[in-house]
Amino acid sequence: MSGPSDLAAGWRTRPTRADIDLGAFSRNIDAIVARLPNGSRLIAVLKANAYGHGAIELARRCTPDRVAMIGVALLEEALEMRRSGITLPILVFGSMTAIDVALDNDITPGVVGPEELAIACEVARHRDAGIHLKLDSGMGRMGVVESELADVIELIRNAPRLRVDGIYTHLANADEPEDSFTGTQIAQFDRMVAVLRAAGVDAPLHHIANSAATMRDLVRPGDYARVGIALYTLEPVMRWRTEIVRLKTLPRGAAIGYGTTFHTSRESRIATLPAGYADGYRRALSNNAEVLIRGKRAPVVGRVSMDLVTVDVTDIDAALGDEVVLLGDSITADELAAKAGTISYEIFCGVTARVPRRYLGG
Ligand SMILES: *Cc1c(COP(=O)(O)O)cnc(C)c1O
Repeated sequence: MSGPSDLAAGWRTRPTRADIDLGAFSRNIDAIVARLPNGSRLIAVLKANAYGHGAIELARRCTPDRVAMIGVALLEEALEMRRSGITLPILVFGSMTAIDVALDNDITPGVVGPEELAIACEVARHRDAGIHLKLDSGMGRMGVVESELADVIELIRNAPRLRVDGIYTHLANADEPEDSFTGTQIAQFDRMVAVLRAAGVDAPLHHIANSAATMRDLVRPGDYARVGIALYTLEPVMRWRTEIVRLKTLPRGAAIGYGTTFHTSRESRIATLPAGYADGYRRALSNNAEVLIRGKRAPVVGRVSMDLVTVDVTDIDAALGDEVVLLGDSITADELAAKAGTISYEIFCGVTARVPRRYLGG
């Protein structure tokens, strides 16, 4: 018998769900670790619910022999992991003001500026405090800039119980191999690290590489690599599927969906799918994407609405109840992203909480 709390998990009852292949995730970890140089280790970036894949379940697959740290964006994401029994070191990219809450929970703050550093130094008056210090090497967003280094050095020198365990930066254009800005940023990072070092401030650990830089083998021996998207895509981990819940034949000239943006040009078999933009199937994919049914591609016709999508299966031998792949198999997140005018990251993060995740291969 299934009670309401069982059913709330959703994947028992809802045909629309995201299957998460834990084996693929684990193999992706192995593949990334295998390409790291001597002494380098992996920081698995599981922010934003592991890019929509399920942070807690995936964190459980991050074994300490392969993953040195888990990286998240928010203190709250890190606390949720601790509550769930995850014991690996966790780095929060930040920002955060509750440094003491982080330290209480064995969470490492990635300090993003002098103001946050001042809070960390204040906290370190009463306790040992380990941090990673973020430098802005040219992205202009988070991190300490060169003109702030003197203040930063002063703060750190006056906080003997503050430990800078890592120094890091983030690259803006690592996914564009021809772009010289990556080299500019690395040179700037090295210059800033040299200024700190000359003043007696250094860390045992440095890290600069995201997925793109890691796949380009820009990780330097001994540095850590902060890898997110590649953990989910080297071998695809998410397969987002649904089923045909209504199948009908419409005459030539019939209108479909809000705004009647599509009219059949022939007698057509139209399948309706129980997924919509409230699930993260983006409205920009209206009349502008394909799904897979029985291994064949069927075009989305008409507008994507909140809860429903319509596809043309006239040329496919489709039946009511057939499985439909929205994302997965030959449909990549990059393909959907290109059609929706965005990037794969936003497609993954956009798969909403309404879509049940089912974990396979655990
Ligand atoms: C998100 C993030 C990453 C991971 O980036 P990917 O491109 O997904 O590998 C690494 N470092 C920081 C600071 C981030 O915010």
